[in-house]
Amino acid sequence: MFNDSQKSQDPKINRREFLAGSIGSASAIIAHNNQSSFGNSRNRKSIHTVLGSIDPYRAGVILTHEHAPTVDWSELYQTKPAPIASKKILEATSALLNLFYNVLGKLDKPGTIVEATPIRVGRYPHLLVQLARMTRVQIVACTGFWCEAFAPQHPWALTMSLKRGGINEMTKLFVREITEGMEDPKFSWGEKFTNIRAGAIKIGTSTYLRPSERAVHEAAAAASKETGCPILTHTTNGGGLEEARLLIRSGVDPKKLMIGHQGHMDDRKNEEANEYHIKIADLGCYLQFDRVGSENYNFAKQARQVKFLVSKGFLRRIVVSHDHVPYFYGNYMKVEKGIDGWRKGNPDYTLVSKKLVTSLKKLDMSDSEIRTILVENPQRCLAF
Ligand SMILES: [Zn+2]
Repeated sequence: MFNDSQKSQDPKINRREFLAGSIGSASAIIAHNNQSSFGNSRNRKSIHTVLGSIDPYRAGVILTHEHAPTVDWSELYQTKPAPIASKKILEATSALLNLFYNVLGKLDKPGTIVEATPIRVGRYPHLLVQLARMTRVQIVACTGFWCEAFAPQHPWALTMSLKRGGINEMTKLFVREITEGMEDPKFSWGEKFTNIRAGAIKIGTSTYLRPSERAVHEAAAAASKETGCPILTHTTNGGGLEEARLLIRSGVDPKKLMIGHQGHMDDRKNEEANEYHIKIADLGCYLQFDRVGSENYNFAKQARQVKFLVSKGFLRRIVVSHDHVPYFYGNYMKVEKGIDGWRKGNPDYTLVSKKLVTSLKKLDMSDSEIRTILVENPQRCLAF
């Protein structure tokens, strides 16, 4: 969309406005510094949403770790699958996402979420497309397998992690989902694929790295290396540094790595693990403060940790999000409520844009610094 001749030397007047056509609204977005970081007209990098690839500047504010509309653990427990989410669920989720769109300033619209639900835990590619068409917010989907933190590893991932050549097979699956399209969970594992592409890889670890999780990390690293696709992680009160070291050793570009669930007990000892965050940032990775507003992750505390990193020169290594889940299905549990057995949350996707930003300003962070964290950092990391 932009060519090099349009480039300005002064970032303050480096203003690009354009129409965000795919959502049908005329929202204007300022593109700030380092225009050239997304490549020239021949090798331009994009952010890959479920509705297609977009110029990174068209993303607006990006929440790098959310779920919408569903997370479903029934395959992990090998129980009867959930009914595919109904129109009601999509409409309710779309309305929640539109609230996020509505609070964004004209220059930060339309807003984008990374839908961090990996393979076979409630990720329905067609549903994500339907949702993306309903809401004004853009959606990036994930490939990858989840971990053993709160439920068993997915049996498909487990099978591949145990067999000879299985990590290569898993790598091929991730690469195919990134370059061609995600598999369709309405059929058996890997039987049919959609043409809806994943734009990120989501993986995770339990409190300590399990063998199946190591296999998933190695496959994710190989897939990221091959495609340039970014990785975002789940951590379970610690383990982020181990993840980062393992992935970087396996060839991942640290600039394509967001270490997740930071902001509480990340070094397993301290509620606010500032020195530990520095160690991760020093590797060149992003720290993802992605549970903003939930229990143990209050705004003031998250803001203090962000400010500390900024004070040490790591402004460009921070991203933020909520890790919200509007509809959760776990029919292994006794109590089920809500629509068709889906347990309904009522998450607020505006907490980062409103309350976290207020807390950051109280610590004297400037609008430009806040914009770097909410807009520019995730754009840079997600573009490939
Ligand atoms: Zn999550």
